[in-house]
Amino acid sequence: MIYIGSHVSLKGDEMYLGSVEEALSYDANAFMVYTGAPQNTKRRPLEEMKIKEAKALMKENNILLSNVIVHAPYIMNLANPDKVKRDFAVEFLTSEIKRTHEMGASQIVLHPGSAVGSTREQAIKWISEGLNEVIKNTKGLTVKIALETMAGKGNEIGRTFEELRDIINLIEDKTRVSVCFDTCHTHDSGYDVRNNFKGVIEEFDKVVGKEYISVFHINDSKNVRGSRKDRHENLGFGHIGFDSLIKIIYDEDFLSIPKILESPYVEGNPPYKEEIMMIKSKKFNPNLKEIIVNKT
Ligand code: FE
Ligand code: FE
Ligand code: ZN
Repeated sequence: MIYIGSHVSLKGDEMYLGSVEEALSYDANAFMVYTGAPQNTKRRPLEEMKIKEAKALMKENNILLSNVIVHAPYIMNLANPDKVKRDFAVEFLTSEIKRTHEMGASQIVLHPGSAVGSTREQAIKWISEGLNEVIKNTKGLTVKIALETMAGKGNEIGRTFEELRDIINLIEDKTRVSVCFDTCHTHDSGYDVRNNFKGVIEEFDKVVGKEYISVFHINDSKNVRGSRKDRHENLGFGHIGFDSLIKIIYDEDFLSIPKILESPYVEGNPPYKEEIMMIKSKKFNPNLKEIIVNKT
């Protein structure tokens, strides 16, 4: 049994209930949502999110809350040199974690941050300071903060396993942090997940510890290994390739870990139902994009 799903939206009046419905329409048994627009910090009040209804629908359809992932907005930067902005990031992440808890999800994925106008070392210190504060602010909750492996675009922190380890080392309550392993990002930052996933994981295990991986983002990449571009491609159409991604999805070390697709829409249509179908049949369909386009 694998737990596979995609990024789904949380919007309109249906909110969280709509997210579950969308996931079910893709035949998914896992999913990931942003708690609002990822590029801003405006959020609907909890009472309007249809949380109870969403949880009931999940239960009815055997979607486990442990396979529901929240993604923090990517505009906040815990490594911002401006203390006021760092404080805002801490405050906002705190409220996002409370929201994640109310939604019943077990983890929130976070881009660690970006070293703008400071050294990477300083950025890592600020990130872990911020995380320690957030964890204190949400004491008693079990929601994990899953630090995402990053492609290394611009000044992104988290492009190497060592940087993630350095952050985690400075976290006081390590039960509250984990890692989101993104296949496109690790490939783009230079790790050979295409030909040597086992070797990459061995390295991750030595540096961080593989028990820290709590979710995978399964994405192909539009670019060659080491490009640091972070442009996702539909499953099997990129430089990682279908067979390598299937091996990762079905790796027995991580069978119980949820896997989330973040592949691009094809001419405005979501590709997830078809991609999940390919994953379940383990058979690549070279006509996938045409099929998706022709759906409308
Ligand atoms: Fe992400
Ligand atoms: Fe990702
Ligand atoms: Zn990405």
